[in-house]
Amino acid sequence: PIPVLTIDGPGGAGKGTISSLVAERLGWHLLDSGALYRLTATAAVKHGIALDDEAAVAALAESLDVAFPIENGKPRTLLEGDEVSQAIRTEQTGELASQVAALPAVRAALLQRQRDFQKAPGLVADGRDMGTVVFVDAPLKIFLTASAEERARRRHLQLQEAGMNASLSSLLKEIQARDARDTQRSVAPLKPADDAITLDTTRLSIPEVVERLAELLAQ
Ligand code: C5P
Repeated sequence: PIPVLTIDGPGGAGKGTISSLVAERLGWHLLDSGALYRLTATAAVKHGIALDDEAAVAALAESLDVAFPIENGKPRTLLEGDEVSQAIRTEQTGELASQVAALPAVRAALLQRQRDFQKAPGLVADGRDMGTVVFVDAPLKIFLTASAEERARRRHLQLQEAGMNASLSSLLKEIQARDARDTQRSVAPLKPADDAITLDTTRLSIPEVVERLAELLAQ
């Protein structure tokens, strides 16, 4: 079977950065599953579909027209041909994504699309339920976490670098609200898989985490 490294955890724990660095280092494919939920929410808003209309949002998720081209070494995200790379990264879109992610039919509609990313030579899968639902047979599962304060601080920096502004305290509140929704929902709640290794990155730098994962993969 084609190997999969799953990296799950709460928002702002560094999953996105770590996953793309590890994928690059290994020459493996990358699945940013959160982007699919963010894109589904964005498409629903664009088409005037209520976020609690489960059947309609699921139908949208099923037929989502997205592309992830890489141009000049920079990954881009296209929704129905429109550039949405920046727009889907806002905390507001994260909140909407977490609303549609709580709908079982939406999760079911995105399941096969996520599994299709499992291609040779391997896949790094970033999300909330990669190890518990989507790739249960993955040989290495990581649960990446960090304190909520540290995650808010990182998100703050990330948004600043992208030219967006948000106060630290409002980010902390949003992160805590999203954690609560993601861990308490009835379908695929955020939790480490039974066979996952938990890594608390609160006091670890990005290179330290990448190094630790490379060691675990080599074992
Ligand atoms: O990781 P990211 O912040 O992009 O995810 C946005 C939201 O999408 C999360 O808060 C979560 O509710 C949802 N999500 C999920 N399952 C995944 C990835 C993301 O439910 N595998």
